[in-house]
Amino acid sequence: MFDLRTLYQEVIVDHNRQPRNFGRLPHPSHHAEGFNPLCGDQIDLDLDVRDGVIDQIKFEGHGCAISTASASLMTEILTGKTIAQAEELFESFHDALTKEQCDDIEALGKLAVLMGVKDYPARIKCATLAWHALHAALNRDQQPVSTE
Ligand code: ZN
Repeated sequence: MFDLRTLYQEVIVDHNRQPRNFGRLPHPSHHAEGFNPLCGDQIDLDLDVRDGVIDQIKFEGHGCAISTASASLMTEILTGKTIAQAEELFESFHDALTKEQCDDIEALGKLAVLMGVKDYPARIKCATLAWHALHAALNRDQQPVSTE
């Protein structure tokens, strides 16, 4: 039997073990820090935005498997996207995790692997931390973001 849950878990384990785009950018155009006190997840996010397009995005930090995998997937999916597309994805992803109904799961692409955390409400903040940091970076918030 093909088990979707197992597949999703494998993707998360893989991204946690080998996070994509892990590290810092030497001269980021945008930067933000995020912290999830509930779990202790911490992230530093660097972006290089050129002409409204995310040219490069990197993250560094430490946290649980969900937060690391989510950040890794986010950097992978956002490279080459416009800021508007990134904000749109943030909204879809956030809605999908926090609302009862999700109309547009297909729009999430690879991010759908994280939908399993819906069954564990305490972990939703782990999955959205990187996205909150992204939102703060794009809006040039100087304060580190907290999921609380
Ligand atoms: Zn966590």
